[in-house]
Amino acid sequence: MENETVSKNFIEQIIDKDLAEGVYDTVHTRFPPEPNGYLHIGHAKSILLNYGLAQEYHGKFNMRFDDTNPTKEKIEFVESIKEDIKWLGADWEDRLYFASDYFDQMYENAVKLIKKGKAYVDDLNAEQIREYRGTLKEPGKESPYRDRSVEENLKLFQEMKDGKYADGEKVLRAKIDMASPNMNMRDPVIYRVAHMTHHNTGDKWCIYPMYDFAHPIEDAIEGITHSICTLEFEDHRPLYDWVVRELEYPHPPKQIEFAKLYLTNVVTGKRYIKKLVEEGIVDGWDDPRLVSIAALRRRGFTPESIKMFVELCGVSKANSSVDYAMLEYCIREDLKMKRPRMMAVLDPIKLVIDNYPKDQIEYLDVVNNLENEELGHRKVPFSRELYIEREDFMEVPPRKYFRLFPGNEVRLMHAYFVKCESFVKDENGKVIEVHCTYDPSTKGGNAPDGRKVKGTIHWVSAEEGRPVKVRLYENIIDESKGVYNEDGSLNLNPNSLQEVTAYVEPELMKAKAYDSFQFVRNGYFCADSKDSKEGEPVFNRIVSLKSSFKLPKA
Ligand code: ATP
Ligand code: MG
Repeated sequence: MENETVSKNFIEQIIDKDLAEGVYDTVHTRFPPEPNGYLHIGHAKSILLNYGLAQEYHGKFNMRFDDTNPTKEKIEFVESIKEDIKWLGADWEDRLYFASDYFDQMYENAVKLIKKGKAYVDDLNAEQIREYRGTLKEPGKESPYRDRSVEENLKLFQEMKDGKYADGEKVLRAKIDMASPNMNMRDPVIYRVAHMTHHNTGDKWCIYPMYDFAHPIEDAIEGITHSICTLEFEDHRPLYDWVVRELEYPHPPKQIEFAKLYLTNVVTGKRYIKKLVEEGIVDGWDDPRLVSIAALRRRGFTPESIKMFVELCGVSKANSSVDYAMLEYCIREDLKMKRPRMMAVLDPIKLVIDNYPKDQIEYLDVVNNLENEELGHRKVPFSRELYIEREDFMEVPPRKYFRLFPGNEVRLMHAYFVKCESFVKDENGKVIEVHCTYDPSTKGGNAPDGRKVKGTIHWVSAEEGRPVKVRLYENIIDESKGVYNEDGSLNLNPNSLQEVTAYVEPELMKAKAYDSFQFVRNGYFCADSKDSKEGEPVFNRIVSLKSSFKLPKA
């Protein structure tokens, strides 16, 4: 029991305390994205954290679009965000909300503040407000309009709502403290005039609430208990508390901040991704080189792997950056036991078995995953002509090279021992064919006389195998030079996408979008959801098999 407490993160500790002290008798969290872009791996952390806490404490989790800013919101993003969250497995049940549905209540709340003498209409323009605000060292100055009467404020605010004023002509401000050491408390603007059409409320409103006023109200209306956000809002917490207190909500929510998740040398900024998409450098927001949730899904990551990753990252108050290799570790761990291990040759060279009967095809029985019997068996065609990886043959082998070279015997995985007899070069001196003989008594991969071979190589039948398009990826950023150039542009890696024609077992031609496999020695691959056609898959490499990543010691 004690260990359990120790291993809890700081948010769980706050919740435990709140429940023990009766501050709340339930846990209700939410995920509140602005529908102004696609979600990325950082958002996944927030989603899984909020949903995970609701589950852990048998509470509730709300999905809420924070669409108070009519300039940026787009319906397209609403749909993609919902899809991503569902895919991650976070279930909001019937609690899908839009902040814009609360505009009437927000307006009423603003009126309430005015009536309490806690808000006033200000005629200062944006620049003057900034000047009057003071600095971190100097207190601000009070606006000459600060002491307007409640009646005058009510009338002016009503007029703001009725469209009497142009954008920026008047604002509603909370009346707090112009001398507060916290700049956010120096009479923040809570409503502005903006003659803009909103995707949800149309032209009903020409005044819109500011985030710091709207967010606590949204949370309070929905009965959120723990409003979890990222560190940059820490200084806004006193204002959050002020809003829920002054509006006299009976069970005020509590804001808790945690550190954002950053990946080293990985771009997540909307502005940058948008540019990559617009310039056609990537194939949309879900290009498999990106780390939007849609891109990770297309690449072949699973919800389980992302969950594992987020859990390994932990929840903390200190900003830090995590290595992409850790994400790769998680997908390998997840797929290792779940996926069949197939044979695919990415850089093919022909191997001819001179003593194997022409026109004979054998269907070898192959186990799908040695570590997981449940995945069953399949048949793999074997023939006289095969493809093997170019790197699996060397004319002059270096030390410790145990694959094919003249005179050496190796095992063809799941098949026979073959011995290299000769090879053929083209006019440029490039090896184009390797010739071997096989030992029929070694079928299945073992010699009855007990002799051993040190190398095992994979292969695909040249007659029965099929060519497919395979995409190999590197980071879209040139890691050797960091993410940004001096002029602020992205430092792109010209080799981030490589397309090859590989030969694969015929079985792989049945792959459907999102099906993933291990290709022995080459990594994990996933059938692309955009470019695969029925019977004609295109494979994306999710991750290679090797890694220098070590799980940090607990
Ligand atoms: P914007 O700059 O447009 O505000 P944003 O990334 O903050 O972008 P939001 O839609 O406001 O996007 O974010 C929704 C939620 O996801 C917020 O609660 C935010 O704190 C959280 N979040 C955003 N980025 C990260 C991140 N890198 N790690 C963890 N949580 C994040
Ligand atoms: Mg935000």
